[in-house]
Parts: sequence; structure tokens; C-alpha cells
Amino acid sequence: MARKIVVIGGGVVGCSIAWHLAKRKLGEVTLIERDRLGSGTTWHSAGNLTWRPGGRFDAAVLYAFETIGRLTEETGQETGWLKTGRLFLAHGSAAIRRLEKYQEQASAAGVEGRMIEPKEAAGLHPLLEPGAITAAWFNPLSGRINPADFTAAYAKGARSHGARIMENCKVTGLSLSGGQVVAIETENGRIEADEVVVAAGLWSRGLLTPAGIHLAQWACEHFYVIADVAPRLARETVSFVAPEDLFYGREEVGGMLVGFFDENAKTIDAAALPEPFSFTLLPPDWDKIAPYFEKAAAIFPSLTAAPIRRFINGPESFTPDDVPLIGPAQGIAGLYICTALNSAGVTISAAAGHMVADFIAGTEPRFDPTLFAPDRFGDKAKDTDWLKRSVSDVVGRGYQQVNL
Ligand SMILES: Cc1cc2nc3c(=O)[nH]c(=O)nc-3n(C[C@H](O)[C@H](O)[C@H](O)COP(=O)(O)OP(=O)(O)OC[C@H]3O[C@@H](n4cnc5c(N)ncnc54)[C@H](O)[C@@H]3O)c2cc1C
Repeated sequence: MARKIVVIGGGVVGCSIAWHLAKRKLGEVTLIERDRLGSGTTWHSAGNLTWRPGGRFDAAVLYAFETIGRLTEETGQETGWLKTGRLFLAHGSAAIRRLEKYQEQASAAGVEGRMIEPKEAAGLHPLLEPGAITAAWFNPLSGRINPADFTAAYAKGARSHGARIMENCKVTGLSLSGGQVVAIETENGRIEADEVVVAAGLWSRGLLTPAGIHLAQWACEHFYVIADVAPRLARETVSFVAPEDLFYGREEVGGMLVGFFDENAKTIDAAALPEPFSFTLLPPDWDKIAPYFEKAAAIFPSLTAAPIRRFINGPESFTPDDVPLIGPAQGIAGLYICTALNSAGVTISAAAGHMVADFIAGTEPRFDPTLFAPDRFGDKAKDTDWLKRSVSDVVGRGYQQVNL
């Protein structure tokens, strides 16, 4: 008899897991979402997919690019993927050295990329002030996707391989017996399971605490704005990241989306969010983004006078080391965790789904899972004060470290 596998959470990550599991025929797959697919954090993601060399996730990002093509072909569902290329902007000497290193690493790996002069960068992005940067590295692979459509494509693919997707069904707890997960409890009744994957985004910690599992995951407020810049930007305009200044951006419906990885990020208790928190945002915080917005306006002066069309403040969960939690839960057979994507969940979703499928299949992992072990923080993860301090620090610091 086929084993029963339940995935909790219908965000981009849960849907990718369901597709990977169903495609590999690993059992009867059921995905449970308490509201509608993508309604948690996924729907308001900026949807950037950025490749950079030598990082911890470069193979995962290359797999994401591969997956988008395969998934679109398989399902016929467009994802909004647009390969715009990405400019990494630098003005300080350490940042420039880092970009030069990127170029060396990219060449060694046989991946396209090149160092470019500020003038050429301004030729690629019409609103960039060349005098405000000293150098740039251009990576043509990167681009952006529509996270809701990407999620829908995973879900369509999962269904076509026999997975069942249940929306508007809240999971209320896990049923354990003899150190093994045996079922999940939902508002609509009990569902037997041989294997359960918790991919409930920032709500995962709360779901697992009653089972004695303390995830090193905490949410922070996370921001971007959409500015009505003039002149309007073409859809294909290159996207950009300025790691020293903790901002990134791209075109959005002719305007400019500018997002921030702020220092001393504001933590937020997932348990304190109103219920339901579906397709919901947090109030804007202009003071928090002001210093970073000013730095963005120094490089893109059109931002100074541009009306702000939208302020997106959504919760996203982070870990103390900026690496997701993916793998088997310690001490409970059949239970797997896949959460805390550190603001890269759309990008990492494909690799995350592959990793979970490898665990459940017991096959040789395509991606080294060691880095992602959910229990790597030990008992420290119980200490919520430590957790809040660590994630508040990792948002800005992690972004600089990953990018620089
Ligand atoms: C402002 C902002 C910008 C971002 N930009 C990018 C970007 O450019 N690129 C990128 O890669 N990433 C980006 N991210 C990060 C990305 O959006 C997230 O990492 C990703 O969406 C997380 O997906 P998820 O499936 O883990 O979580 P979610 O999308 O939150 O999905 C979890 C699901 O679980 C459901 N759920 C929760 N509890 C239960 C329960 N008890 N029973 C049943 N279902 C339950 C929820 O309803 C939800 O739908 C950004 C995030 C933010 C906030």
C-alpha cells in the first residue's frame, strides 16, 4: 500500500514539495492549506531570483532556473519568469574587490558575468547615476518571477501527478505514537499519515512546539516600496542589488520596486498576528526604511521625487545563521521540516522540494543537507530572547555577508 504523505502549508515551498513528492511517486500526497495557496508570505514576495557565485546556495539557484523551464513545459502554467540580468553595485573598495572575486569565480564555473564600468551600468539602467557608484558586476542569469503563478504551477504539476490539495483546512496539531508521527488533526477531522512535512512558513514553530520541537525560526517585518518613477521603466530593465547599502530593486509595472534588508530588523511574534492572516500586510514603517531609501535615491535620483504607490511590509521568518531549516525532525520518525527561508523562499523552493523528496525517498541527496539540519542550534532554539536578537541582527548582516 502506498505510504501517506501530508504536507502542511500551501505556500511556494509546500507546493514545490508536493510537486517533487508526487512526481517521484513517493506515496499518496496530500497538501493541506488553511486558507488559499500562497496566502501567507508568498503572495507579497518581490519574486527576485538572484544567482551569485561561491555562495551557499548557488547550486540551488541554478536548480531553480532549471525547474522553472521544466515546470512551465510540464504544466503549461506561465510563471511570469523574466530573465532581466542583475547589476551588483559597489562604491567601496571592499565591495569592489568582492565583485572582482565574483567574476573570477563565475568564469571558473563557466557561468556568464562581467565587471562593468559605471557608464555601461547606466546604459543598462536608465535611472542609474553613474557618478554614485565605482563599479558593477553584471550577472545575466538572474531575473524575477510572479510568486503566485510559480506556486500555482507547482500545485498544478502536483495535482497532475495525483497529489490532493485541500484548501481552507487548518491543521490544529500532530498525532504521535511511539516516537512516530501517525496523523495530523485538522479543523475538518483527522488525516492518517506515515510521513508529515511541516512547511507552514512562519507558523511552523508554533505548530511544532506542542510536539516538543523548538525551531530556531522567528519572523521579522520585511519591506519594499513601489515608486512611480519618471521616466517609466521598461519591463525588461535590468534589476539591481547594492549590498553595501542594503537595498535591491527592479522594475514593477513601469515603476521601481525598491526593497530593504534593514539593520536591527523589527521582530514579530507569529503567534501574535491576527487570524486569519491571509493576503494580509503589516502597517508601513517609513522611519525604518528612510536611511536605506536615501541611499537608494543617491544612486537612483529619480526616486527622490517619485510618489510611492505601495508600501509592502510583510512578515518573513529568519534563522540565526541565515540558512533555512530543512530535514528530518530529531526524535520523531516520519516528521520533516522545511521552513524559515530567510527571504529567499521563492528562489530556494525548488531545491527545498528536491531535498525533502530525497529525504523521504532515502536517495543520495542532490544538495548537501548538512548545512540545513533543523536541529543544528540545539537547546539554544528554546531561548526566544536569543532567537529574536539573532534574527534581528541577521537580516542586514546576512544580506551583506551573502552578497559581499
Ligand atoms: C517583503 C518580502 C520580499 C521578499 N522577496 C523575495 C524575493 O525577492 N525572492 C525570494 O526568493 N524570496 C523573497 N521573499 C521571501 C519569500 O516570500 C518567502 O521565503 C516564501 O514566500 C516563504 O514561503 P513558504 O511557503 O515557506 O511560506 P508561506 O508562503 O507563508 O506559506 C506557508 C503556508 O502555510 C499555511 N499555514 C500556516 N499554518 C497552517 C496550519 N496550521 N494549517 C494549514 N496551513 C497552514 C499558511 O496559510 C501559508 O499559506 C520575500 C519576503 C518578503 C516578506
